[in-house]
Amino acid sequence: STPAVMLSAMAAAARSGVLFKSSAALDGLARVQTVAFDKTGTLTQARMTLTHIVADDEAAALTLAAGLEGHSEHPIARALVAAAQQRGVMPSPVSGVQALPGLGIVGRLPDGKRAWAGNERLLAREGAVLSPIQNAALQQLGTQGSSSVIVGLGRRVIGVIGVADTLRPGIREAISRLRAAGVRHPVMLTGDKQEVARTVAAQAGLSKFHAELLPEDKLRLVAELPGPVAMVGDGVNDAPALARADVGIAVASGTDVAIESADVVLMQSDLGKLGGALQLARDARRTVK
Ligand code: ADP
Ligand code: MG
Repeated sequence: STPAVMLSAMAAAARSGVLFKSSAALDGLARVQTVAFDKTGTLTQARMTLTHIVADDEAAALTLAAGLEGHSEHPIARALVAAAQQRGVMPSPVSGVQALPGLGIVGRLPDGKRAWAGNERLLAREGAVLSPIQNAALQQLGTQGSSSVIVGLGRRVIGVIGVADTLRPGIREAISRLRAAGVRHPVMLTGDKQEVARTVAAQAGLSKFHAELLPEDKLRLVAELPGPVAMVGDGVNDAPALARADVGIAVASGTDVAIESADVVLMQSDLGKLGGALQLARDARRTVK
């Protein structure tokens, strides 16, 4: 049975908003050397906003993007759907929608044309190419630290949309507190582009990051990083890595599948609570031993 010390540490953690699903998770967190953070929706607020549309017909690009993204739970999707609503743009009726984790989303218009929205990996998969203007817009958004969405119809690129995100408040402090509590390797793992990742990692005070990762790449890295490893994430794309990590930690604002795959849930999505929970876990482990 679970020692009373551990039960009371779990209760104390729960009062601070850190929910351990098991005493094994508490014990695991006490031993963690590496904490890997997802970027979008974990280090950043899940509240993205549309900042740029580069398209001959901006409304057409947003109509198509919103039609697709209405079927997605991704933070990028919510930003595009909200922007369409604000501008009074009706989403295209898109059917047969399929989310491609780490790439974007695809579907069909009533006339059978293939519609898609996502990153350069999806662009390549659809056999489409960017015009020089579209390409320049994409590069510029990346160096600003903004994520971008390429919107296409068949092999034609309709537009490039930029979405800005902001770090959750207190992230730098949360990460330095984890370092102080003995975490040797804090690192960011993201499906987003190199340039965006570099900018956001620097803002968060993280010197290490891995970018352009598919869900299976996150899974592989969680197995390869110096262990024991905790993974903090929110998305469908993080679920395999959360399940595989020695300790999977989900933010409560995340998707159901992330929360189900995790061992620990941050109830207020406050990463600032992790340092304290780690300390509680270490103290409890020391007392039990
Ligand atoms: P992160 O690891 O930062 O949370 P994801 O793995 O969720 O990012 O997504 C990686 C990339 O895949 C995004 O930066 C985006 O380019 C693309 N992507 C994923 N889902 C969507 C979507 N619904 N619409 C547009 N792009 C998407
Ligand atoms: Mg995410």
